[in-house]
Amino acid sequence: MGRFAPLLILLLFTAVPGRAQGLLDVLNSIGAPSRRPSLPPLPAQRGRGKNWVGSRSHDGALPILVMAGHADSQRIEGSGTPGAAVGLGGAAPMQPGITDELHWNLLTARRVVEVGQREGLNIRFYDPGMRTIVDATDPRTNWSVGARHAEAGGYALEIHYDAYGPDGIGPGVIPGVLYGFSRFDEALAAEFGAFPWDHRDILGGPRLGISLLEIGKLEGSLENALRDPLRREATLDAIARRVVQALRRGSADGAVGGTAFQQ
Ligand SMILES: [Zn+2]
Repeated sequence: MGRFAPLLILLLFTAVPGRAQGLLDVLNSIGAPSRRPSLPPLPAQRGRGKNWVGSRSHDGALPILVMAGHADSQRIEGSGTPGAAVGLGGAAPMQPGITDELHWNLLTARRVVEVGQREGLNIRFYDPGMRTIVDATDPRTNWSVGARHAEAGGYALEIHYDAYGPDGIGPGVIPGVLYGFSRFDEALAAEFGAFPWDHRDILGGPRLGISLLEIGKLEGSLENALRDPLRREATLDAIARRVVQALRRGSADGAVGGTAFQQ
């Protein structure tokens, strides 16, 4: 036990971002060079923080493409968070066979498009329909469709809710990287906050030019409001209005979406 206690303490500390450096300093100050342990790489940058500026405009003929995160990756890796109600509280999932995150991603993405179209945005929803597509390069997946849209000059946005507890971080936009940061990313960041562009060494979607929007952690008052049948519609409306207002601001110069974007 005695021999391994320092290693256990080291692992404990390095698992907590921010503490590892302090521990390293202590070790460096007391240990002879030959006895210093070799530390594992520190965790990738966590948390929010905007290290980018979105200024790219888009082909005005193309709609804003909105998708629901994890819509095609159920029952395989990357199916999204179950949410605190299910994951911690033991509640039944909102819908059998899919995570609560996908359930809310779908409702939120559809509501964003409904409200956006009412407000005059050129915006549409894409749903692969099949809930499990094992091959990520299948042309029907979110990422395949989003990547083609981004390559053609359009803006592709995937809606997400973040994990509950310490695994989640909170609301914010994670901008698409491949073609540069968008004016829409900038506007969404002003409304929801932002993650670093290189969050988790650049996630799969952003690598392909698809932006991700985390609405918030699926827990607490946000999850309660969504799960409460009496407050659900108003909550979805409020979230969708915030997204749409940001997208309208992102297109405010008329350079994006052409005449479809009337202010
Ligand atoms: Zn997600």
